Amino acid sequence: MMDAWVVARPGPIATNPLERTRLPVPEPGPGELLIKVEVCAVCRTDLHLAEGDLPPRRPRTVPGHEVVGRVTALGPGTEGPAPGTRVGVAWLRSTCGECRYCRRGAENLCPSSTYTGWDADGGYAEYLTAPADYVYPLPEDLPAEKLAPLLCAGIIGYRALLRCDLPPRGRLGIYGFGASAHITAQIAMAQGASVYVMTRSPAAQELARELGAVFVGGSADTPPEPLDAAILFAPVGELVLPALEALDRGGTLAVAGIHLTDIPVLNYQRHLFQERTLRSVTANTRADGREFLRLVAAHPPRITTTPYPFDAADRALQDLAADRVNGVAVLLME
Ligand SMILES: [Zn+2]
Ligand SMILES: [Zn+2]
Repeated sequence: MMDAWVVARPGPIATNPLERTRLPVPEPGPGELLIKVEVCAVCRTDLHLAEGDLPPRRPRTVPGHEVVGRVTALGPGTEGPAPGTRVGVAWLRSTCGECRYCRRGAENLCPSSTYTGWDADGGYAEYLTAPADYVYPLPEDLPAEKLAPLLCAGIIGYRALLRCDLPPRGRLGIYGFGASAHITAQIAMAQGASVYVMTRSPAAQELARELGAVFVGGSADTPPEPLDAAILFAPVGELVLPALEALDRGGTLAVAGIHLTDIPVLNYQRHLFQERTLRSVTANTRADGREFLRLVAAHPPRITTTPYPFDAADRALQDLAADRVNGVAVLLME
C-alpha cells in the first residue's frame, strides 16, 4: 500500500475537495513504468481539477502531473528506461499516434489523448505508472525540486512562447506572473526579448523586477510601448481585452491556460483590427517538451519554489488559490 491524495469531492477549495488516503501500489501495464515519486510540483490545473472547473474523468483520481521520480519496475514488454533512471512525468500521458493530428505532428490536439492526474492517477502519491514513451529522461545534476516545475509550468509556457510568434529581440507582454510565467520570462529574456510584466501580486511584481523585466505594472496596466507579442497566464478572461489593446499592429496574444473565465465582448477596432491575433494553447507535444528540456539543461532558469511536505498538499492548493505562493509550490515526498 502507499500514501496518496485523491480528488474526492470536486468543489471550492474551502470545502476540502482533496482527501488523504491509502491505495495499493499500482502495477505497470504493458509499455508502462512504475515510478517512485521524489517531488511533484503543484500546478494551477490541479486546482481546476480539485474545484471541478475541469470535470473529473474518473472518480477519486490522484492529481499531479509535474513528477520527478525514479523508475522502479517495467511493465510487460516495456523497453527501458532501466530501473534507477531519473525521469519526469508530465501532463500529456498518451495519444493515439494514428489520427490526422498525431500524423501531422500535432499530437497535442489528438482527440484520444489522455492526461496524467485526470485520466489516470498522478503524482500526489508515493508511486505512479506512466507509459515509457511519454516520460522525459532528466539530468542528475539538478535538484528534483527545481526540475519538477519545468514539466508543466515550463513546457506549457514554452509552447505558449512558440505560439505567440515573438519576433527576434521583440517586446513580450506577460499577464499574470506565477509558476509558468516566471520560467517563460527567463527563456524569452535569454533569447533577447524585452519582457513587460502585468500582475496584481506585489511579491510577483518584485520577482519580475529581480528577473529583469523592463516594465512591471498592475494586472491590466498599459505597458509604455506597444507589444510585439503577449501571453496571458492568468485564467482571467477580462484581461484578454487590455492584452489585445496593448499589442502592436500584427501582434499575437496567446492564452496559455487550460481554463479561462469568459472573455467579455470584443470591439473589433480596439482589440483585433490591424491584424492582431488571439490564440489558444492546448497542452504540448513531446517534441516541445524535449526541445524545452534541452534549452534549460544548457541555461537553467532561476526557479523560485515553495516546498510543502506531502501531508500538506491540500494547504498547497489553498495557498495557490489565494495567490499566497511565490513561484512554484512543490510537494516533497520525504
Ligand atoms: Zn491521435
Ligand atoms: Zn500543469
